[in-house]
Amino acid sequence: MTTHAQFASNPGHAASWYAATANQKSVRPALQGEIAADVCIVGAGFTGISAALELSERGYKVIVLEAERIGFGASGRNGGQIVNGYSRDLETIERRYGQEKARALGAMSLEGGDIIRGRIEKYAIDCDLRHGGFFAAFTQKQIRDLEAVKAKWEKHGHEHLEMVSHAAVSKYVKTDRYVGGLIDKCGGHIHPLNLVLGEAAAAESLGAIIFENSRVEKIGTGNEPVVATSKGTVRAKHVLICGNAYLGKLFTKITDRMMPVSSQVMVTEPLEPKLIEGLLPADYCVEDANYVLDYYRRTADNRLLYGGGIGYGGQDPKNLTAIIQPNMLKTFPALAKARIEFAWSGNFALTLTRIPHVGRISDTVFFSHGDSGHGVTTTHLLGKILGEMAAGQAERFDVWASLPSLPFPGGKALRVPLTVLGAWWYGMRDRLGL
Ligand SMILES: Cc1cc2nc3c(=O)[nH]c(=O)nc-3n(C[C@H](O)[C@H](O)[C@H](O)COP(=O)(O)OP(=O)(O)OC[C@H]3O[C@@H](n4cnc5c(N)ncnc54)[C@H](O)[C@@H]3O)c2cc1C
Repeated sequence: MTTHAQFASNPGHAASWYAATANQKSVRPALQGEIAADVCIVGAGFTGISAALELSERGYKVIVLEAERIGFGASGRNGGQIVNGYSRDLETIERRYGQEKARALGAMSLEGGDIIRGRIEKYAIDCDLRHGGFFAAFTQKQIRDLEAVKAKWEKHGHEHLEMVSHAAVSKYVKTDRYVGGLIDKCGGHIHPLNLVLGEAAAAESLGAIIFENSRVEKIGTGNEPVVATSKGTVRAKHVLICGNAYLGKLFTKITDRMMPVSSQVMVTEPLEPKLIEGLLPADYCVEDANYVLDYYRRTADNRLLYGGGIGYGGQDPKNLTAIIQPNMLKTFPALAKARIEFAWSGNFALTLTRIPHVGRISDTVFFSHGDSGHGVTTTHLLGKILGEMAAGQAERFDVWASLPSLPFPGGKALRVPLTVLGAWWYGMRDRLGL
């Protein structure tokens, strides 16, 4: 591991390649004293900042309170993969919640990616956007599953999907691990911390104020609720709670419906352009079709960024590289000598249904969290929808809020071991090709 001497430090963030290469490193001030706003947003990840930008564009006075730094949570640490759709497939959504709900969610399922690309263009956000994603299959069973996903998606108007034969895998990734896969030309990848920082700057340019190092300790739920940190208060007409897996004990009524889960990412040293271009010729992002999956992509400075691993309950494993590097070497034996320069962990919020948990705490306080493993696009969509809700348009919010949220079986004490057992079972099925 290097000391990252070539990069300026960026305190308050995980020691990631993203933090080291962030476009903005200056720290915003913390909230001090009393202030009033139309909308107060708790948490400056994709969800909170997406809502802030939506509301700022509509002319609302917005204050964002972030406990640490903008993008401190999953939004500034993830694989950067723009994956369309939700963490639960549309088929299951239809089976569980009926055709009408599936149609409504299906109609929104490409919007998150469109929001991202639209904002990057509109605000000239420099975040290394690349187009295209590849879902890689290890087995014929996974190929059949991907074919079913494609057919279902096409019913919902997604026309950018193409099955990839075994022979054509090497156009996207040079490895002998996969038997084929599915490409989504509407997917892609970004430097996620630079995306959220760019969106935050866009919201600020329209009048939003973002306070960092301002952990919210209390939120009123009545008319004109007051949101309090240790040093100040914000009185607002509406409050949007967007703290996701990092929300801690605030509002246990809603945090009980999600479980923090960690995933780990590591980044190699810059590779010879010929080598990295040879491994990922199309510059698509890749994720495999296993239950506990590997995800990887090129970075703009020719590194390989490789993610995987899972920690139910949100543990931060000690030797991150030892967890991920063996998988990377299975995929790309040619990288045996590549130095690993960065490795970090981050938490996303998992719900039992894998569907985001969206709702009202009162008539003035709303929340969205639990986008589970695929949240880059969904958080952008739901942040926008939270913004619509605060602006008095409840229609799309209510579609999401009407979906049932279920507690994890086993309560606080047993929910982690029971989920680990479930994941072990699905992992075993993957290993046996079932
Ligand atoms: C390692 C990793 C890799 C991933 N890879 C991908 C991927 O490639 N593609 C994909 O689609 N998804 C991926 N995800 C999931 C995706 O990153 C998340 O779903 C998404 O970023 C969640 O955004 P968010 O804004 O809801 O939460 P976060 O980004 O976690 O933001 C929540 C913010 O709220 C703040 N906060 C919490 N409590 C308080 C409080 N009391 N007061 C003030 N602020 C508070 C936190 O500090 C944090 O900054 C990954 C997640 C992880 C962890």
